[in-house]
Amino acid sequence: MDYSARRREQLAGRLPPEGLDALLVSSAVNVTYLTGFTGDSSVLVVGRQRVVLVSDRRFTEQIAEECPGLEAHIRPPSQKLPEAVAEVLTRLGLRAVGFETTALTVAEFETLKELTPTVSWKGAADRVEKLRAIKDESEIAEIRQAIRIAERSFAAFRALLRPDDNEKDLCDAMEGYIRRNGGQGSSFPPIIAVGERAALPHAPPTGRVVGSGQLLLVDWGATGPLSYKSDLTRVLDTRTKSSSRTAITAPELEAIYAVVLQAQETARRGVRPGVAAREVDAAARRVIADAGFGDYFGHGLGHGIGLQIHEAPAVRPNSDAVLQAGMVITLEPGIYLPGWGGVRIEDDVLVTPDGAEVLTHVPKQLEEMRVFA
Ligand code: ZN
Ligand code: ZN
Repeated sequence: MDYSARRREQLAGRLPPEGLDALLVSSAVNVTYLTGFTGDSSVLVVGRQRVVLVSDRRFTEQIAEECPGLEAHIRPPSQKLPEAVAEVLTRLGLRAVGFETTALTVAEFETLKELTPTVSWKGAADRVEKLRAIKDESEIAEIRQAIRIAERSFAAFRALLRPDDNEKDLCDAMEGYIRRNGGQGSSFPPIIAVGERAALPHAPPTGRVVGSGQLLLVDWGATGPLSYKSDLTRVLDTRTKSSSRTAITAPELEAIYAVVLQAQETARRGVRPGVAAREVDAAARRVIADAGFGDYFGHGLGHGIGLQIHEAPAVRPNSDAVLQAGMVITLEPGIYLPGWGGVRIEDDVLVTPDGAEVLTHVPKQLEEMRVFA
């Protein structure tokens, strides 16, 4: 099965109803999705009948390797990319051409327009992103792989964690575990936050050491061999016997952790095709608000993952996305109390024809998160 070819066919099939002869795909990740080509500085012209990858001589061999059979226009060093695109559009006689408004600068668009007086350009955002939101079986397998890598990395991270490790060194260490376990690298810079620093949902790492706080928030993920991502968060209980009565008192952590876990579980039960993404967000938000923490969950419940760490569908209050089978989303409710810390629990979930399959399997009951005692 040539998945890339099938995606190009799907995209081409959507051109006629829009009155488009072609779509100029200039987002690098969208080019990868549609061709398997992983280089840069290249764009894809998807016509109703023909598809041409416009690239340069650095990539001739890579294109032959990664996307055999795909028609390519390899521009010589004397030809700039917009000139090459203009040449291809003219040669193929394409007149009504869509462009990705989110992936072309105004300057690039002006240049293209000048070079193509016979083309009528039409802004066409999110055409490929909509296809990408629904994963095919090859993509789901890649995401499972990226999750396996992240889970093995976390097991190593956890086993080797010491009270005198600091946030920065732990971020570096996680990167190493992910690479050694077969990942290309982290799918985003890991968030590793000690104690009250976990109140910052996107805390940048500092020299703070693990033993100085009583919880450790770890938000990490791997980019797998074919660039698909995973994204998880766990909070480790780093209390020792002697510290359990200071900064974070045991009942607070226990109570807040239980609410977050229940919010996530409630959301998961609501995941199925046909449900509005904002309803899933609302279900989790209600649990947190009912427990009195409504003001302390300041971000959306989740997001799609795939070739990018954040992609469609958005799972948040104002989302207009409707869940469909094949979507892979995160569910990551959190409660953040300034000066105290934060708890977020994040798992990756596949929308199935009749519900949801949780793809991530790292333990998450609080009693399983204890590391030093
Ligand atoms: Zn995350
Ligand atoms: Zn996430």
